[in-house]
Amino acid sequence: MLTDPDCLFCKITAGEIPSDQVYSDEYVVVFKDINPKASVHLLIVPREHIKSLNELEEKHDSLIAHCMRLLPKIAKEQGLDNGFRTVINTGAGGGQEVFHLHIHLLGSNDLGDAWF
Ligand code: 5GP
Ligand code: ZN
Repeated sequence: MLTDPDCLFCKITAGEIPSDQVYSDEYVVVFKDINPKASVHLLIVPREHIKSLNELEEKHDSLIAHCMRLLPKIAKEQGLDNGFRTVINTGAGGGQEVFHLHIHLLGSNDLGDAWF
């Protein structure tokens, strides 16, 4: 599995940099965003270093399906019974700041119409 020793999220998923983890398995780590935009703001981060959606290949299909199916399970565990929002920023123009693919999972009692 590809990782990048200089990548922040590779260091976090490897446990070299601490994070507030809520879930982890062989493929992904889920931890709290350091600068939360909602009362629940988690990042679903594959352990493999994939820079963004632009670098996804067919070989990643099962990993992506795994992430998608994990989202509602984590949301439920977090008490988000009324729904949740997912965001993936891609590239500088899409607001991506950390170039290791991740899915934002956001929720609260009143998320409103903010796009984050
Ligand atoms: P992006 O803009 O790339 O989609 O999102 C990157 C996210 O990572 C931001 O919401 C930012 O707050 C979060 N983040 C950046 N550095 C750290 C860190 O060291 N630890 C954690 N937990 N989150 C981080
Ligand atoms: Zn990485």
